Amino acid sequence: MPSTTSVTGAPVEVLDWQSAVEVLNQDYKRDGLDVKSLLDSDKRGGLTYNDFLILPGYIGFSAHEVTLDSKITKKISLKLPLVSSPMDTVTETDMAIFMALLGGLGIIHHNCSAEEQAEMVRKVKKYENGFILDPVVMSPTHTVGDVRKVKEENGFAGIPVTEDGKLYSKLVGIVTMRDIQFHNDNSTPLAEVMTTDLITAPEGITLAAANNLLRSSKKGKLPVIDASGNLTALLSRSDLMKNLHFPLASKLPDSKQLLCGAAIGTREDDKARLHKLVEAGLDVVIMDSSQGNSLYQIGMLKWIKATFPDLQVIAGNVVTREQAANLIAAGADGLRIGMGSGSACITQEVMAVGRPQATAVYSICEFARRFGVPCIADGGVQNVGHIVKAIALGASTVMMGGLLAGTTESPGKYFLSPDGKLVKAYRGMGSIDAMESQKSSDNAATGRYFSEGDKVRVAQGVSGSVLDRGSVTKFVPYLQAGLQHSLQDIGVQSIEELQKGVEEGSVRFEVRTVSAQAEGNVHGLHEFNKKLYA
Ligand code: GDP
Ligand code: GDP
Ligand code: GDP
Ligand code: 5GP
Repeated sequence: MPSTTSVTGAPVEVLDWQSAVEVLNQDYKRDGLDVKSLLDSDKRGGLTYNDFLILPGYIGFSAHEVTLDSKITKKISLKLPLVSSPMDTVTETDMAIFMALLGGLGIIHHNCSAEEQAEMVRKVKKYENGFILDPVVMSPTHTVGDVRKVKEENGFAGIPVTEDGKLYSKLVGIVTMRDIQFHNDNSTPLAEVMTTDLITAPEGITLAAANNLLRSSKKGKLPVIDASGNLTALLSRSDLMKNLHFPLASKLPDSKQLLCGAAIGTREDDKARLHKLVEAGLDVVIMDSSQGNSLYQIGMLKWIKATFPDLQVIAGNVVTREQAANLIAAGADGLRIGMGSGSACITQEVMAVGRPQATAVYSICEFARRFGVPCIADGGVQNVGHIVKAIALGASTVMMGGLLAGTTESPGKYFLSPDGKLVKAYRGMGSIDAMESQKSSDNAATGRYFSEGDKVRVAQGVSGSVLDRGSVTKFVPYLQAGLQHSLQDIGVQSIEELQKGVEEGSVRFEVRTVSAQAEGNVHGLHEFNKKLYA
């Protein structure tokens, strides 16, 4: 047996190096902490994402083999577990379209009239299609000006022309931008400019076969007609491109329309609002409240489930198991977790109510999973690492406000900050600014933080700005690649495997002291450039 000498001079046995793994398993407990010990809040107090780390595992696969599929509600899965927050500086039409195209989901805010919100939902649902079952149709007597108007309002100009200008009437031609581009007279009837020699598909054709026909025809549109030549649907070539460029897109399996979410309040008139949103094609509704465990929310939840049984409903926000249990029992299809952890929030400071986010996420997710209810970790996400930690603690998806507010697709314009940086406005929905605009848009009824009768408005958020982050079409794929690399480091190939590993104790954690946090960030450099992706 080989031996060496310890510092005291005593001989120490040197073990056979080939037995390292056996000795480890035999003589040692697993390194680090299991999740229960980490989050034992009786001992340690509530933790935030920055208070702990995940220990690395074994890498036996490449990062691009890591899948990120996860549920957002009982019935809806996403390929990327990222959701944009229903805030008026974060999610309107563009953000919702691109979050869905990239595999996540956008939740359209409700700090606007019901009509405006429904119109945003409608635009998301119209953005991509398989068969377009309700295409805009015109008659031969409609004019070039009418087509220009549709293009301006809806963004497309490929319009089938039927005898009486309606769907299910005889198809007589098609007009596209090419037909009218250089035609200056807006009063010319379509009969004079439309193309009449058409390639069509028969009703009943499968989407795959219709797509093939569209490809081989080399045309931009493919009208579908029944045996009598009546128009029944339309296909668009640009949808094939969208499908090609965005393989992870969150879509309905049959219509291929993008998934869209929207937020509402819990007042009586939110019921009328929801009717409009559902009519526009809404898939997921979030009842937006900072304290969701209320008579109002439970009443609304039951009403929604009875009125729209197919609509997925997410309740919240909650930070304790007791709050969550009430909403789960009332039929919530998903929960939203977080109180006061958002980057523009002052709830914890002003109301003295809330909970550190990591503890809130673990506490609720561990409970909710027993009932098959997926949870969104909402607020406080500042980097890829925070997303991974939220998911490791049981969240199915993660919601972001501030992180997405600086992208091209968020509402509002860029401007220069006093120190010369390119920024966009970002404000808490409970900031005085946001509450004022609720009032001025005659929309106090949907106020999340402001009751009409209140004499003094108590702010629960601030208003400010965030740095330019470029387009979500670059930023979200960066988050996705970051997540894949992180899961690879942990040694798990999917979100399911990560959460199973955490539950079984094979994925381990470590508490991060204040000095560990300093060590884990850039330190000791005179100056540096923190570019996050290229
Ligand atoms: P166009 O060639 O001017 O019609 O425009 P594009 O082909 O660029 O855009 C059409 C996009 O709008 C496709 O993604 C369609 O699915 C979508 N869309 C939604 N509703 C309609 C509709 O009623 N008519 C047309 N033409 N496109 C629609
Ligand atoms: P995917 O190709 O990975 O999206 O697989 P799917 O099972 O969703 O697609 C089935 C068929 O639908 C294939 O022929 C796809 O090309 C086609 N498809 C998927 N998305 C769209 C879309 O948005 N528009 C159209 N026209 N076809 C689509
Ligand atoms: P929160 O401030 O984030 O909890 O947002 P809510 O919209 O849930 O609540 C705003 C205020 O309105 C709170 O005082 C709620 O208790 C109250 N509230 C919410 N829904 C209703 C409702 O349907 N009727 C009445 N009378 N008050 C409500
Ligand atoms: P962020 O991603 O910026 O850290 O947090 C976004 C989340 O903050 C939102 O999804 C929402 O739950 C929460 N939030 C938005 N506005 C306010 C506000 O004014 N006050 C509070 N307490 N929370 C807010």
